[in-house]
Amino acid sequence: MPLQDKIAYWARSAAAYRTHRACPGCGGENLQLVERKYLFTRLFLCRDCRLMFRHPTDDADASRRFYQSDYAQDDGITTELPDPKQLQAMIADGFGEKNADHYRKAIGILLPEKPPTSVRMIDYGCSWGYQSYQFRQSGIDCRSYEISAPRAAYGNRHLGLDIKTDESMLEGGNDVFYSSHVIEHLPSPKRMIDLGMSLLRDGGYFIMESPNGSEAFRRAHPAHFSKLWGMVHPNMISVDFYEHAFASSPFLITSTPFDNLLGELNRWDKKSTRILDLTGPTLLLIARKL
Ligand SMILES: [Zn+2]
Repeated sequence: MPLQDKIAYWARSAAAYRTHRACPGCGGENLQLVERKYLFTRLFLCRDCRLMFRHPTDDADASRRFYQSDYAQDDGITTELPDPKQLQAMIADGFGEKNADHYRKAIGILLPEKPPTSVRMIDYGCSWGYQSYQFRQSGIDCRSYEISAPRAAYGNRHLGLDIKTDESMLEGGNDVFYSSHVIEHLPSPKRMIDLGMSLLRDGGYFIMESPNGSEAFRRAHPAHFSKLWGMVHPNMISVDFYEHAFASSPFLITSTPFDNLLGELNRWDKKSTRILDLTGPTLLLIARKL
């Protein structure tokens, strides 16, 4: 993150420090202070819906503008658009850290009656489509959504994808709604969960990966927890939040490393909620729509 962006964020936060505080998820005002950073930014827990959010918050229009082109991750894949040679190397290499094999296998376990070619899926917030491409390569009918028009155009052009930049173009009746490292960026996480659930058929699965805001991780790694919220992550998502948001859907929840994920999915009855180890930095939720 360039220094001038950090300074602008700090100045914006200082100016808005005394603005009204309410949960961006449910509007609740029953808040508990969790942490403070850079004097003027605070992480609050909403006692009503259990969302943890940064105050001052961003408005939805500013967020949309930011993600068109300003947003940059320095991991070399999430937000950088590769040139043709780099792209060929990534495809040959299986996309490194963004390899989707364990999710392809997980979907096979969740939907044992369906061959990949009859699975309908949405990859929500797919960036330029490096994972959507892998799902499609395995035969899955994966449609995608991305807020950034340049990244969507890149994936459609270079990877033959169907990435929409307008949520209303997404069709319902899906077996899987998948989203990796998106919810922590959104002005309203609840809105996205409602959208995802509305796009699933009954019995479909909502799969979501995000930084882990759960208390178990915070207690085990407090300094790492503090680093995970801030300018680009206005939300921290926890098991408590999911228990509230998915009160009527059974789910399995775990955290990195996902070494035992496939075995755990095989053992899960898909009717009850299973909470596994939550001391890792990345949280994974798999909820079933009933
Ligand atoms: Zn709330």
